[in-house]
Amino acid sequence: MAATQTAWVTEEQSPSVKLSLAAREILHEEQSEFQHIVVADSIQFGRMLILDGVFQTSIADEWVYSEMITHVPLCLHPQPRRILIVGGGDGGTAREVLRHTTVESVEMVEIDPAVIAIAKKYLPEIAAALLQDDPRLTVTVGDGIAKVEAAENEYDVIIVDCSDPIGPGKGLFTAEFYAACARALKADGIMVQQTESPFFHQQLIFDVQQAVAKSFPMTRLYTAPIPLYPSGYHSFTLGAKTRDPLASEWRTPSLPHCRYYNTEIGKAAFVLPEFVRHLVARDETPMTSSK
Ligand code: SAM
Repeated sequence: MAATQTAWVTEEQSPSVKLSLAAREILHEEQSEFQHIVVADSIQFGRMLILDGVFQTSIADEWVYSEMITHVPLCLHPQPRRILIVGGGDGGTAREVLRHTTVESVEMVEIDPAVIAIAKKYLPEIAAALLQDDPRLTVTVGDGIAKVEAAENEYDVIIVDCSDPIGPGKGLFTAEFYAACARALKADGIMVQQTESPFFHQQLIFDVQQAVAKSFPMTRLYTAPIPLYPSGYHSFTLGAKTRDPLASEWRTPSLPHCRYYNTEIGKAAFVLPEFVRHLVARDETPMTSSK
């Protein structure tokens, strides 16, 4: 029997592009201190989280994002022990980080407690780590920027699992923040941030590459297909003090649960199409910008 659609949820991905999904039901809606939060049960993507009208994650494709933002830096690092997650309130990144047996502590700093509560209630598959009590995980409510600024030489990997550069996420896309990340990381530390779509957000990617390169000798972009996000093609920017993903050896821990990541996919994600390669080489100005 065909699913019954009772509502539509829409993300305005640029001034000229909207993505609308038919939903069986709007499961939750609230205005938190920081953002407008919706959980919808969409027909194509299943339950999904929407913040300020922006699609954040869905049951159907979160694993591509969660695996790629986590296993790439954690497998590139020779021995990731102390990990900081900035944002990541849905819990998918914490879930993946905790799969690494080298990891001794994971601190997650999410600014909006409502996102954590809603993920636990409506997205338990994604929020699994927030529902279990692994003693390695500490979840704090607060501003990730202040957390990073207060740290020095503490972390092996910082994962910036943030929303778009609007609202509370804005300060996470600045040269000052990346400099603070570099200070907070140990000598062979690695930082990763989600940096939107190479088709829709070229100016953002261009600017982030330049800003990260001010503080990290190795600044690299990698990509993955994420159907829910603008253009279905997403990017991540990695800043490393010593580990070059194109030249360093990668760890190959056993990750049998993965549905997207494997070592070859991780390495191949740094092989960029020509238009993206020129963008990050900074030898071509961005074609378009929707933000
Ligand atoms: N996978 C998602 C994406 O790319 O759209 C991001 C997931 S996660 C829900 C993003 C989280 O970052 C949000 O819950 C938001 O509240 C949090 N956030 C935004 N700015 C923050 C800040 N300055 N400090 C800590 N968390 C922040």
